[in-house]
Amino acid sequence: MKSLKLYRRMISYLSAYSPWIALSILLSFLVANFEMLSLWFGGSLVQTLFDPVKGEMARPSFSFGNINGLLKYYTWLIIRRENSFDSLKLVCLLMAVTFLAKNILIYCKSLVMAALNLNVVKDLRNQLYYHALKLPVSWYDRSKSGNIMSIILNDAASINASMTSTFDRLFIEPMRVILCVSMLLIINVELTLAVVIIFPLIGTLITIVGKAVRRRSKRVLEHMAGLVSILYETINGIRAVKMFNMHSIEADKFRGENRRFIHHSFRSTSIGAVSSPLTEVFGVVCVILLLWYGGRQVFSADGFGAEDFVRFLIFLFTTFTPLKALSSINNTLQSGFAAAERVFAVLDAPVEPLAESAPGTAPSFTRSIEFSHVTFAYPGTGAEVLKDLSFTVRKGTVVALVGSSGAGKSTVLDLLPRFYDITGGAILIDGVDVRDCDLAGLRHLYGIVAQETVLFDETVYNNISYGSPGVKRDLVIDAARAANALEFIEKMPHGFDTMIGEQGIMLSGGQRQRLSIARALLRNPPILILDEATSSLDTESEILVQSAINNLIVNRTAIVVAHRLSTIRHADTILVLEAGRIVEQGSHAELLALGKRYKYFYDIQFATRAPR
Ligand code: ADP
Repeated sequence: MKSLKLYRRMISYLSAYSPWIALSILLSFLVANFEMLSLWFGGSLVQTLFDPVKGEMARPSFSFGNINGLLKYYTWLIIRRENSFDSLKLVCLLMAVTFLAKNILIYCKSLVMAALNLNVVKDLRNQLYYHALKLPVSWYDRSKSGNIMSIILNDAASINASMTSTFDRLFIEPMRVILCVSMLLIINVELTLAVVIIFPLIGTLITIVGKAVRRRSKRVLEHMAGLVSILYETINGIRAVKMFNMHSIEADKFRGENRRFIHHSFRSTSIGAVSSPLTEVFGVVCVILLLWYGGRQVFSADGFGAEDFVRFLIFLFTTFTPLKALSSINNTLQSGFAAAERVFAVLDAPVEPLAESAPGTAPSFTRSIEFSHVTFAYPGTGAEVLKDLSFTVRKGTVVALVGSSGAGKSTVLDLLPRFYDITGGAILIDGVDVRDCDLAGLRHLYGIVAQETVLFDETVYNNISYGSPGVKRDLVIDAARAANALEFIEKMPHGFDTMIGEQGIMLSGGQRQRLSIARALLRNPPILILDEATSSLDTESEILVQSAINNLIVNRTAIVVAHRLSTIRHADTILVLEAGRIVEQGSHAELLALGKRYKYFYDIQFATRAPR
């Protein structure tokens, strides 16, 4: 009953639009009734043409067994005219009117459905995106970004396409089937029963095909996500692809994934495609048998005339249309389920407890941040990357982390704003465990200047004021000045209103860093997390960036992963990390005097460069 649960959950997105749904169901009901009327008059047309009623028609007595006779009598009352020609005209007119009405109603219903469909996709995408933004960083470590994009863009739409169209058809098609079968029963019970025996056979067939389609379409979606993620990775990393001459290897990777996608798409389509011809073949076999059986009844003339048989056949053929639609409902549903599983997996991923605690519990920072016997392993991996780490950062001091690559420096920085939760020990701010603090409040304490500057395809002004909405323009300009960014910003074509392109593509590395320093300065956070870029800048840029950093950390509490000599020299405490442990701790002079690990780093990295 997993499918039923999935479907119920999918349908819950429609509940916000119940008036639209009610309208759509009403329209469906009207469409089905007008259809029955038009078909009934179709039978009357045949009767008027080939076997018009001569003279008066006697009113049959009422009985359940003779509803057909009564209906025919009332139809005759409506269409009887002096001559058959006038009757024919009237029947044609009635048919035309009922068909026209049916199609106008179908058009109205399409509009209602489209409005419903689009609104539900909109809601689902909004919810997915909002949820995705609240998911922890560790979730993003596990998921490819192309995959997430594909879920929000493609899967949300395909869930919905399958949901609204099937929801609608689940109402109208069974209604049409019921109306048609009632008409068949009214016209000839015996013939109808003969037909009904065939139905379960078709039903079984539909279920088997549906299951196969579901398996296939899940695979198709996976390969689609694979394609998107290859595209995303290479387009984002186009420079690397070019530099390493990876064109042909990347193209081969894409070709391979594309081939698998097409292969699975074809298999999925081919299985889906067999379902509707198969249903029709069954139907036709059934009709041929009936023609023979019913034809014999007409010849034997026991109250079952040609008009009745023609009507019976018209209604029978009409029954196949909704039945076919019902069989394709199953296919649409199954592909919707595949998408739903992926969408709901995102929606069910637990979010960060951002607003879990009361707003009043935002931590204050007056004394210190303390790491107390902290151990940490990345979620899903067993290996501890930080082991029994203890140190204290007092307010107003600068602590620098030094160590070889992979020692755990960036991990320490990521633990401060709780991008990940520690696995042992505690991180305390003024003695309060960060896990007891309001997460939004905690993050508000920090300003981050990361190695990879995060810039948005926006104006310079909006990039600096990101995270400080509604701030005064003067303050933005002051921040830019302190970050040594004012000069180059003013030289840009539209100054602060220049768009900087995706990821700040229009800017140099040093300019990007200075923008993100300006952003941190503007937010004026009590604690600064600084992951100095290792990428080498030209000397002039480096001086500008360094002096911007000095402006940034002056009189501030800062935790720095330091690569620049001057930052390290002026740090109050230097922690030397090695494989997740602190191996040395002290000031620049103390550690140099110690003559061990730090001295070694100092010698190989900085000794050749004069201190600034
Ligand atoms: P550093 O910044 O000192 O170079 P990191 O803190 O980036 O070191 O990494 C410390 C260790 O944690 C490394 O062994 C690295 O492979 C591992 N690591 C880093 N990020 C992740 C992650 N998202 N998932 C799993 N392991 C990670």
